Amino acid sequence: MIHVPTVAANEARKFGFEWLRKRLFREKELQKENQQLKAQLDAHVAFDRLMAEMVYRDGAYWNEDGDGPFCKVCLLKDHVAMPLDEGATRGVYGCPVHDTSYWSRDYRERQANRPVRFRTWSKQRAYLEAQSRRRAGY
Ligand SMILES: [Zn+2]
Repeated sequence: MIHVPTVAANEARKFGFEWLRKRLFREKELQKENQQLKAQLDAHVAFDRLMAEMVYRDGAYWNEDGDGPFCKVCLLKDHVAMPLDEGATRGVYGCPVHDTSYWSRDYRERQANRPVRFRTWSKQRAYLEAQSRRRAGY
């Protein structure tokens, strides 16, 4: 019998066991990996399907049926169609998850076109007089 140092024998045993383990469990590992990849693919397909029926309009996503608006952050980041809550003001929506508010184009235009208001009547009167003078052309 040949003498083999203990360290080398242990290494050889370890190598042998590793080789055997790989042989035995390779199929199982491949199956597991396959399942993981399938799950990833399913998620991608589901997201693609969801995005196919979503239309980006007016700062948020809307369903093809006209449902909505849906939160764009929830949709793009978490792949969830999260309907936005209507705010107290018409045209303002909020995401219940992100606590963010979305202003619709209608609301923004209303804000831009609303009449100027001053805290005191004298300032309001001065503004109105200046405006009427400007309209009159002097
Ligand atoms: Zn959100």
